[in-house]
Amino acid sequence: MSDPAQIRRVGFVGLGNMGGPMVARLLGDGFEVVAYDTAPAAIERAVEGGAVGANALEDAARGTDAIVLMLPNSAIVTAVVEQLRSAGALAEGLVVIDMSSSEPQRTRELAAELAQSGVALVDAPVSGGVRGAVGGKLTIMVGADDEQLARVRPVLESLGTVRHAGAVGAGHAIKALNNLLSASHLLATAEAMAAGTRFGLDPDVMLAVFNGSSGKSGSTENKYPNFIRTGRYDSGFGLRLMLKDMRIATSLAEQEGVPARLGVEAVELWSEAAESLEPTADHTEIARWIDQLVPPSDGITAPPPPGTGPMTS
Ligand code: NAD
Repeated sequence: MSDPAQIRRVGFVGLGNMGGPMVARLLGDGFEVVAYDTAPAAIERAVEGGAVGANALEDAARGTDAIVLMLPNSAIVTAVVEQLRSAGALAEGLVVIDMSSSEPQRTRELAAELAQSGVALVDAPVSGGVRGAVGGKLTIMVGADDEQLARVRPVLESLGTVRHAGAVGAGHAIKALNNLLSASHLLATAEAMAAGTRFGLDPDVMLAVFNGSSGKSGSTENKYPNFIRTGRYDSGFGLRLMLKDMRIATSLAEQEGVPARLGVEAVELWSEAAESLEPTADHTEIARWIDQLVPPSDGITAPPPPGTGPMTS
């Protein structure tokens, strides 16, 4: 006999750069998906892939065992949950899986409110970008107790590798801290690349050396070669979304009494970039923005003497 607690029918809200391919993975693994987004075209794409299209938000929760949220931020997550709750669409026993990169403290508050009506909330934000979403290779940072984790695990394992971060809110906290690191690495790399190229260094040589040395990071191994050096700036992760995550992380540090001066400075620079770039700018545009702050080389800075080659340490 089948297990009644087993999740088979999943509501999915937020079918953007990440949610779209995540729905495709769930369908591929045999889950029934009821898909909703405020953009009708996103629902149409999900339906073409085999999902059931929800005519209204509530339809993504009614009759489903779990509802996944893949939305831009905590304010929207809270508004969606409120709408579902006031429509009476959150039945006792339902589990809400917030895979958005949300604010950990708000997540804890929301989980406590939902628990009063017998609805569980699990936070399960992801890393790995659009490629990870398409390939089912996301890293998923889960905030949940063991019982809820066991319940949602089959859904999450369809999307990537599960890491139990701790209690509710822990996933969102780690995610924000991870992105503060990632954004700081990218910023530092952009500054190093701008300085090195003006000194006359070949950017591809610089990247090759960094990637064989202690300066390597996801920025030097992935973002520069795939999205920046190619001039594509199309990773599918918006600059404003990254800035949101950085602010969550620096607020968390502040709340815990940690000065995080480097992080605060990084937030200021990314904020300046966000103000001067299009709202839809990809986060990898930060590298071009940094580069354009620097005037072109005046030709006075000498290239390295011939034969000295790239540094090895
Ligand atoms: P996106 O902007 O591409 O997609 C968000 C989707 O939510 C859109 O389709 C939008 O129409 C929909 N939406 C907005 N408000 C809604 C509402 N009230 N009801 C229903 N749908 C609504 O964003 P994304 O890149 O897919 O990111 C989603 C979340 O995942 C964010 O929290 C982001 O920080 C996080 N994230 C993104 C990436 C990435 O590489 N793109 C990686 C890891 C985490």
